[in-house]
Amino acid sequence: PRTFRIAAVPGDGIGPEVVAAGRRVLDALAAETGAFALEWTEFPWGCDHYARTGRMMDADGVRALRGFDAVYFGAVGRPDVPDHISLWGLRLAICQGLDQWANIRPVRFPPGVTGPLRRDDTAELDWVVVRENSEGEYAGLGGRNLAARGPGSEVAVQTSLFTEAGCERIIRFAFELARTRSRPKVTCVTKSNAQQYGMVLWDEVFARVAAQYPDVESDSGLVDAMAARFVLNPEELSVVVASNLHADILSDLGSALTGSLGLAASANLDPERRAPSMFEPVHGSAPDIAGRGTANPLGAIGSAALMLDHLGLAKEAARLDGAVAAATGAGVLPADLGGTATTEEVTAAVIDRL
Ligand code: NAD
Ligand code: MN
Repeated sequence: PRTFRIAAVPGDGIGPEVVAAGRRVLDALAAETGAFALEWTEFPWGCDHYARTGRMMDADGVRALRGFDAVYFGAVGRPDVPDHISLWGLRLAICQGLDQWANIRPVRFPPGVTGPLRRDDTAELDWVVVRENSEGEYAGLGGRNLAARGPGSEVAVQTSLFTEAGCERIIRFAFELARTRSRPKVTCVTKSNAQQYGMVLWDEVFARVAAQYPDVESDSGLVDAMAARFVLNPEELSVVVASNLHADILSDLGSALTGSLGLAASANLDPERRAPSMFEPVHGSAPDIAGRGTANPLGAIGSAALMLDHLGLAKEAARLDGAVAAATGAGVLPADLGGTATTEEVTAAVIDRL
């Protein structure tokens, strides 16, 4: 069997709890199938590292990750460290440093789970939110203390950056993904009525690319109206493509609609495979529940399945997704989904059903 070298970056709060759960499930699957082996290297980066060293990760950390086949990430953030420091110092440093320009976030109803949109077990929902992951509102451009003339007069600027090439590659990625799905459709989300430069460029590129995919249905909407459509007409959507900020917000909304943020998985991909891609749950470090052993590990476990898929192990990824569905379908649910199962019990239930 092929051995893959995986860098684990558990991070803060519940990050280490859910990463440990995902690693156990992956190692069990490797042993069970004999189809692959994983060689783990753990990097103790995050807010503790920041408290000790003044840095969220080692100075050459991004370079160290380049030698791996994939990065398996937990979450960052601790109440005593400003969020922009923990986010930019680790998660965004990796995503942008390795040019993982496509963030995909599947949104699905797992069996046995009800949510705000699903009062019984028969309703279906199956989207993928495709998030531009390298520029846009998270380009890190701007400044503070501009033209300040004393207390109370500060001016701050936060600029979004949209390049034609950046828009084109993510929109094309969304259309290619749509072609692999049972419903080949791409929905474009912008705010081009109010944001007349970057978002209008995005809309124009979308129209141009859509014309090259006559076999894929397409439509578009403004982000505020789209938030309402997510709730009111969820069955109309398949692939949703949006900018860094808009897709960040919409994918949290999507995952909450399926039951809980704790379920949501994601992949930060370099589709050109020049560097390792990174797989992480959508949720953050959840300091309110950290250390109790109650965190929902299914977002991290679902991200592990996305990692297997990216490594060319589609069959094993499907087997893992099947085990998760069997566990939730049998009523093994953590607290955020209305159940009583601990992180440990959910993890064991998935492993049992591999
Ligand atoms: P959060 O996702 O950490 O938590 C939001 C709510 O959802 C909390 O009530 C939490 O208990 C619950 N929740 C989240 N994941 C859960 C899980 N797996 N199981 C059960 N419940 C879960 O978001 P937040 O509270 O806005 O942010 C907390 C910290 O995480 C902040 O420092 C923030 O910057 C950081 N953050 C990091 C990432 C990341 O690393 N990718 C993403 C979002 C937020
Ligand atoms: Mn988010």
